[in-house]
Amino acid sequence: MSQNTNLQNTKSFYITTTLPYVNGDPHIGFAMEIIRADVIARYKKALGYDVFFNTGTDEHGLKLYEAARDRGIDIMDFLDEASSKFKDLIGDLNISPDIHFIRTTDAHHIKSSQALWNRVMDRGYIYKKNYQTKYCVGCEENKTDSELEDGKCPTHPNREIEIIDEENYFFKLSALADQLYTLFESNPKIVIPESRLNEMKEFVKRGLEDFSISRLKEKMPWGIDVPGDEKHVMYVWFDALTNYISTLGWPENENEAGENGTELGNFNKYWRDGTPIQYCGKDNTRFQSITWQSMLLAAGLPNTQSIIINGWITGEGGVKMSKSLGNTINPSEVVLEYGADALRFFVTKELQPFEDSPFAINKFKEVYNAHLANGIGNLVSRVMKMAVSYEAKLSNELVESVKSSIGILSGVANKHVEDFRLDLYVQEIFDDFTKLDQFIQEEQPFKKFKVEPEAARKDLIYLQEKLLAGAYRLSIIMPKTSEAVIDCITNHKMPEEPLFLRKE
Ligand SMILES: [Zn+2]
Repeated sequence: MSQNTNLQNTKSFYITTTLPYVNGDPHIGFAMEIIRADVIARYKKALGYDVFFNTGTDEHGLKLYEAARDRGIDIMDFLDEASSKFKDLIGDLNISPDIHFIRTTDAHHIKSSQALWNRVMDRGYIYKKNYQTKYCVGCEENKTDSELEDGKCPTHPNREIEIIDEENYFFKLSALADQLYTLFESNPKIVIPESRLNEMKEFVKRGLEDFSISRLKEKMPWGIDVPGDEKHVMYVWFDALTNYISTLGWPENENEAGENGTELGNFNKYWRDGTPIQYCGKDNTRFQSITWQSMLLAAGLPNTQSIIINGWITGEGGVKMSKSLGNTINPSEVVLEYGADALRFFVTKELQPFEDSPFAINKFKEVYNAHLANGIGNLVSRVMKMAVSYEAKLSNELVESVKSSIGILSGVANKHVEDFRLDLYVQEIFDDFTKLDQFIQEEQPFKKFKVEPEAARKDLIYLQEKLLAGAYRLSIIMPKTSEAVIDCITNHKMPEEPLFLRKE
C-alpha cells in the first residue's frame, strides 16, 4: 500500500479532557467533551500513533468538603462514590478502554502538585502577601464588586460571599504576560477556535494580575498542603491543573529523556514530544489558556499544543440547563434508551463544534429515527438481506482493498478531523450512505434480480463495498455500529438484530 509511506508508527500523542469537579452527577456537557476527545484518540491510534488519553476527577475544595459534611459521611467515602459515577459514565459511552483515569486525591498527584509548586517557587513566581478579597465557594473563584449583584454571586444567590482577609501565597502572573502573548502569537492553534484565542489575547493585553494560590488550612480544610508551610493549602485550581502532567508520572521521570541509552519517560514521550491536545468547555477557557499555560511557563515546561474549546449544551431555546428548570439531560439514561453510538453520533455531528447548542430529547429522537433507525440501520438491513439471498459475497481480496483505501487506516490524515470538525467528517460518511439509498431506488436490484441476476449481484457488491468503506471510516465515531456492519459484510449475513430500533 503506497499510503503507508506516511505511517508514523513511532510517534506519540497525548490528549486529555478537563477533570470534572465531582460536586454533581455527570452531565451531558462532559459526555460531549469526552466523546469528542475519544474520537480524536481513536483517530490517532488508527493512524498508528502511540496514544495517551487522560481523564479523571477533580476532588479538592471547600464545596466538596461541605457536601460530605452535610451528608454526615467521611470525605473520602463521599469522593469515592462521586468519582465512580464518572468511571461508570466512561463505560456507558464506550470510551477507549485504555483511557487513564486520574483522581486529584491520588497520592502521586499530591506529590506532583507539590513538586510543581516548588519548581514555580524556586524560579521566583510565587510570593507571600497580605490579601483581602471576596470569594464565592460556589464558583471556587474570587469576585470583584462589579461581578456581584446586591453583594451576591449571580450564579449562586443562595450562598453568602466569603470575605477573605489573610496572608496568602500569590502566583506572579503579571510577570508572564509578555511570554504568554508571545506564545499565543507563535502558535495560532494553541486555542481553537480562533475567536477564543483572540479573546485570550485581548485579555492578556488588558494586563494580568497576580492571584492567590493558597488558603489558610483552618478555613479551607480540604486541599493539598503547601510544601513547607503546614498552615496553608493550595488553591484547588493550582492542584487540579497539575493533573495533566502528574498523570504522566511527572516529575520523577522528567530526566528519562531517551538519550545515552536511557528509556524515554512518559512525560517526555507524551507531553514534550506528543503535541498535547486538551479539550474543555468554554467556561474553562481562561483556566486552560491563561492559568495553566502560565504555570507551565513559570515551571519552564513545554506548553500545550492546542486547547479545543467546546460550546455549552443548553436547554431548548438556548436557556442554561439547571436542575431547578428540570431541563438537564442524564447522558447514561440517553445511552440506556438509545445506545452509546446514538449519543456519540449526535454530539459529534448534530451539536456545534465550538458554539453553544441546544439539546432536547425530542430533537434527539427525531435525528435518531431519521439518520440511524431509518438511515444506516435500515440501509444495512436492506442491503444485507439482498446480498444474502442473491449470494452476492465480497471476496477477501475486495474486503482488503476497501480497507486499504481508507485514509485513516493507511496513515493519511483527515483534514476535517485535524481541524476538530468532527461534524464535517461524519456528514461526509452519512452523505455517502444517502447516495446508496438513492442508488437502490434508481437501480432497483430487487427487480433486476428476476431478469438479470448477475447485474443485480454486481449492484449488491458495489453497495457492500461502499457500506464497508463507510463502516471503516465510522469506526472512530461509532465503534459498535462500525464493528456490526463490518461483521455482517465480511461474514455475509444479516444483522442479528436491528442496529437501531425505531422509537415512537
Ligand atoms: Zn458563584
